[in-house]
Amino acid sequence: MDTALARAWVQAIAAAMDTHQDRLTQLDSAIGDADHGANMHRGFAAVAAALPQDDAATPGAVLARTGSLLISVVGGASGPLYGSAFRSLGTALDAAEVPGAAGPTGGTAAGPEQVAGALAAGLAGVRRLGAAAEGDKTMIDAFAPALMAFRTSAEAGADLAQAAAAAADAAEQGMRATTPMQARKGRASYLGARSVGHQDPGATSTALIFRALADTAA
Ligand code: ADP
Ligand code: MG
Ligand code: MG
Repeated sequence: MDTALARAWVQAIAAAMDTHQDRLTQLDSAIGDADHGANMHRGFAAVAAALPQDDAATPGAVLARTGSLLISVVGGASGPLYGSAFRSLGTALDAAEVPGAAGPTGGTAAGPEQVAGALAAGLAGVRRLGAAAEGDKTMIDAFAPALMAFRTSAEAGADLAQAAAAAADAAEQGMRATTPMQARKGRASYLGARSVGHQDPGATSTALIFRALADTAA
């Protein structure tokens, strides 16, 4: 992943949140407070507006800046959670950069194994802040299987596009698997057993984020 790909990824996320805003809001109206679409749209629209003027020179800096913007712009649980994910991801990516892979734009490129490590740091950031486990019906239920699929593909020698495609498929499967779960974290947990039968909004936005990476890297 180089700086241009990191920028293209967050722009693709912004486009996806624009397209799917109403769907995310519908999901959150069933088991939450009907603001997840607005939250994600507001956050990534701010990122898309700010990044062209930003001088972030590495992919890690682009993603860390994305995280900081999400934290400052998005209220609700998802702002700090995704903010922390992107900040941790960006910081880890910068630490893992491959100096020999400097591209024409001066950015450096991280390979699939480095990106897997950075995604693991992003997931750890979400876990640290939200203390949710798999099965709690949150974004973790899409993020954790996506990371596992990404890492498995990368270790098997897949390139970034192949690993990202595997991750997006796994995230979508994880997203669908949240429907029968009972929520144990976040607002949906207030509903108890009435949260069963609805797909988690945050797992849905996480699947969009991984699909955006797969589409961008393809
Ligand atoms: P809020 O619930 O504050 O209105 P959003 O609607 O933007 O925030 O985001 C809700 C999503 O956040 C949920 O669908 C869930 O995936 C995720 N979420 C909530 N609490 C946690 C947590 N503790 N850990 C991980 N994800 C969480
Ligand atoms: Mg909400
Ligand atoms: Mg809210």
